Amino acid sequence: MPCLSCSDLRVSFRIQKKTARAVRGVSFELDDRKTLGIVGESGCGKSVTASSIMRLIPAPPGKIEAGTMLFEGKDLLSIPEKQMREVRGRRISMIFQDPMTSLNPVFTCGHQVAEPLILHKGMGKRAAAELCAELFSEVGIAEPKRVFSSYPHNLSGGMRQRVMIAMALACSPRLLIADEPTTALDVTVQAKLLELLKKLQDAKGMSMILITHNLGIVAGMAHDVMVMYAGEVVESAPARAIFDSPRHPYTERLLKTIPSIEKRSGRLTVIPGTVPTPLEIPDGCPFHPRCQRATERCGKEHPALRRVDGGGGKHQARCHLYG
Ligand code: SF4
Repeated sequence: MPCLSCSDLRVSFRIQKKTARAVRGVSFELDDRKTLGIVGESGCGKSVTASSIMRLIPAPPGKIEAGTMLFEGKDLLSIPEKQMREVRGRRISMIFQDPMTSLNPVFTCGHQVAEPLILHKGMGKRAAAELCAELFSEVGIAEPKRVFSSYPHNLSGGMRQRVMIAMALACSPRLLIADEPTTALDVTVQAKLLELLKKLQDAKGMSMILITHNLGIVAGMAHDVMVMYAGEVVESAPARAIFDSPRHPYTERLLKTIPSIEKRSGRLTVIPGTVPTPLEIPDGCPFHPRCQRATERCGKEHPALRRVDGGGGKHQARCHLYG
């Protein structure tokens, strides 16, 4: 049985009296102890999808219009808020992109990591502080005592993100959602943190959703990959199939943008144009204004997500080139 099963998720926002459809019918399954990488440029609906799992869409202006999100026998989109609070932080945790804005600046790091242990696990202050110190060591913090009594602004970006990881792991969640967890960090710190996340996931038997705009990052981390564009899934497959034989022109272009150490000369590859805003999604295939393989049909007819060859029967693409 999958750890999480999302079906036909639809999320919109009311902006200036118009409805912006940020997520348009997204479905996916995440297996136990596996990692699903959700990839796409900014504005493709990745983070809105992740926030919907935790039901963190601000309403208004946001609204989860439809869909089911099955986790441990419950539909997270329809259970009462009280039950959802039990799930958040305890069974599902999230790591955000910028720890400086996610950690509370007026509380010490120790206080913030111990809080879920006291709230969700009913631990006493002393026991929570001891476990907190253990968690800090586990995530590679060399001076747990100093960090325990430090405020977020006293720490470097990499150290703050380690505190966020410790906080996310505090209640031993079954599912960890990492939304661009290393984007705000230096490249060398990024590599160390990704390695740490992978090690902790294996050790604790968690499932993970890793959201990133960088296909290079998911290459070493994800078992399955879902590529999103304009609020839809445009391709999904086991990671190997995505990297060895991408089918959707958008995925092909994303792969070409990964900088390579072998390409010592020449310009970096870019995808011309920009992602349409949810208020201006073009008719037909939303990628057609940027697609080098677009035909007349692409501007008129919206392609369906279809199964394509390979990927052990799990490879799907949304493109008129297939079917
Ligand atoms: Fe390109 Fe057409 Fe396929 Fe869209 S449907 S990705 S425009 S070829």
